Amino acid sequence: MTNKANLLDYDRKSLGSYFIEIGDKSFRAQQVLKWIYHQGAIDFEAMTNLSKNLRANLEQNACIKLPEITSEQKSEDGTRKWLIQVKGGGSVETVFIPEKDRGTLCISSQVGCPLECKFCSTGQQGFNRNLSTSEIIGQVWAANKALGYFENDKRIITNIVFMGMGEPLLNYDNVLKAINLLTDDLGFGLARRRVTVSTSGIIPEIDRLKDDTNVSLAISLHASNDELRNDIVPINRSYPISDLLAACKRFTVARDDEPITIEYVMLKDVNDSLQDAHDLVGCLRGIPAKVNLIPFNTFPGTSYNCSEIKTINSFRDVLVKSKIITITRKTRGDDIDAACGQLVGKVTAKAARHQKILTELN
Ligand code: SAH
Ligand code: SF4
Repeated sequence: MTNKANLLDYDRKSLGSYFIEIGDKSFRAQQVLKWIYHQGAIDFEAMTNLSKNLRANLEQNACIKLPEITSEQKSEDGTRKWLIQVKGGGSVETVFIPEKDRGTLCISSQVGCPLECKFCSTGQQGFNRNLSTSEIIGQVWAANKALGYFENDKRIITNIVFMGMGEPLLNYDNVLKAINLLTDDLGFGLARRRVTVSTSGIIPEIDRLKDDTNVSLAISLHASNDELRNDIVPINRSYPISDLLAACKRFTVARDDEPITIEYVMLKDVNDSLQDAHDLVGCLRGIPAKVNLIPFNTFPGTSYNCSEIKTINSFRDVLVKSKIITITRKTRGDDIDAACGQLVGKVTAKAARHQKILTELN
């Protein structure tokens, strides 16, 4: 049972190889992908253009297994959040954010995150493991199912961002296959620019992403000098700002100067001074980039505070005066802890309380 190949782990190329391995033709992959990602079929019996023999073979040796959704919450603002239990313990979250002209799904790539950014709830929880491709693409499949996509053939999820739990570029191979399925016409068929990978700056993998895909890039910069960034985004000690910006430049050159997104979380009295804003302008000179200012979202146990609105506005004005397109990201879904950096904050607290209770009982 457990050794069955989960077909959600394969993109078009690897699924083609799988069918050759089992003695069939690689074009079966195309038929099966359409069933799964166009029709929403996860039952081999439903795949009526496959021969009876092949369906029986697949039934025996393969499966289409989605990650297990254990709860769903809806925010007053329409944001929806799904909690997904993963094998081996732990859980991840997926968030759908409806807007006037688009619907964005924020997906997770790891259970926890090993990078320990100081202002991030996920990073403060530690790291469990990478998600498999099936667990990543399964989040998108399940959200589409819940939103009625397969029944109505109406695209509600128009954009995907790898901004949930985890650092996607530390799980490169599985994330790449998921990207292939998101952008493949036989998969979800999303325009490549509508898929954004957000990274804290794993330089070698930024270069690979540039060469292997056409998706958009967002960089979690959050500071414009190494001293501060070493402290709040510790991976900066391995990949300092100047090297990271050089990688960003290579990326934009390869994309004909299409701008990347720079994410900058606004932390009161930490990185939000006018000098910080001017330094950020200096960093971005020569790099096509737009900036997203993210008001810090609080979580239990953090000592950071969000910058005041007027501070955020003054910071933004400095960037705008320097002709950098800058938006302040709206906080969405915070009544259900679905905002950036809040994911699984509650679960950890619960787990910790649970642990405490167990310890007290013993
Ligand atoms: N690991 C990746 C993607 C996941 S985090 C990355 O770091 O880019 C998605 C975004 O949320 C990142 O820009 C991250 O820095 C930001 N973020 C993390 N914690 C936050 C918090 N508490 N408040 C606001 N944004 C936060
Ligand atoms: Fe990991 Fe991103 Fe959180 Fe940093 S901000 S700890 S890289 S998820």
